[in-house]
Amino acid sequence: MKKSFKEKVILYYRKTIENKSWLRVPAFVVLSVVLFGHHSLAKIFGAWKKYAFTAFLLLMFLTGSSFTYPVFGERDGFISPEAEQEAIAVEESTIRLAEEEEVLPEEIELLDDADVLEGYEDAELHGVEELDKYSLEDILEGEDILEGEDISEESRLEEAAAVPESGETVSFSADDWRLILINKQHPIPEDYSFNLGTIKGSMQCDERIIGDLLQMLQAAQDDSVSLVICSPYRDLSRQEVLFNRKIEAYMRKGMSYLEAYKLSSQSVTVPGASEHQIGLAIDIISDDYSTLDAGFAETEAGKWLNEHSSEYGFILRYPQGKEYITGIEFEPWHFRYVGKEAAAIIAEQEITLEEFVDENL
Ligand SMILES: [Zn+2]
Repeated sequence: MKKSFKEKVILYYRKTIENKSWLRVPAFVVLSVVLFGHHSLAKIFGAWKKYAFTAFLLLMFLTGSSFTYPVFGERDGFISPEAEQEAIAVEESTIRLAEEEEVLPEEIELLDDADVLEGYEDAELHGVEELDKYSLEDILEGEDILEGEDISEESRLEEAAAVPESGETVSFSADDWRLILINKQHPIPEDYSFNLGTIKGSMQCDERIIGDLLQMLQAAQDDSVSLVICSPYRDLSRQEVLFNRKIEAYMRKGMSYLEAYKLSSQSVTVPGASEHQIGLAIDIISDDYSTLDAGFAETEAGKWLNEHSSEYGFILRYPQGKEYITGIEFEPWHFRYVGKEAAAIIAEQEITLEEFVDENL
């Protein structure tokens, strides 16, 4: 019977160590290597197609992936002159690009909501732009919204008298819906709920502030100041649209995503951290000045609001010089309802809602 290779090798091993016991260990090692090598080779030849395919794939991977180029190129420490020239050219062009695209801080032009909303097809649905700016006449037109609301001069004086004199102590509750603090550090609580009331058309806000809002508009009109309210309540999607569009616009100006994010969050609050989403913030402009920018502060309407808004429970939410507290640039058009008592204190002490909450709640 024909002996197998394995049997032959073992037989040879036995013979070899028969009279030489000192050869036992080294010969056993040799035997193991020989048997293992034979076994492996037999396997490979038995399934050569499979192994050939694996080898082919490995070769494709090595030649096809870019990270192996340096290995191929620098084999034996040799880089072809062409490759070297190319590398230098790429490096230089990258440096030039970086220099050209650098954005100097003083050149950064802050974008308004309007700048980034152009071509936003969904604008109408979300209550944006032209359609959604209303003066008091627009709001009252054909409606009896003020029915039951006495907004005569007399009642306003009575209301004003109800606000405690300075010096008198008033206590505030952290549960008061009017004093909820919403900012980047304090996003809207998941369980926050309120009823939306309609001011006009698609324009909505927390129904509890509509009375005071209309009284304020009426009072301004009595002083010959025509206020126009725009975009009070925003749902999350519109807030997201604004935020993302600003980031995109800044990135087109050559900023990195992080820079663009930082700058965008200074002018549009990050989604989930906007008072507009809980219906307590109103952006107010005037007939003759309808851009949301710092210049509004110098208009008659801006000055009137700065002086009187607190009498109706509204505060200038993002004042000048308090950016380090609010994290938001000066927004002379953005008013937040906090109720008359808190507004009186905030206006008198010229503080922010952050400081008020910190001191009183
Ligand atoms: Zn606003």
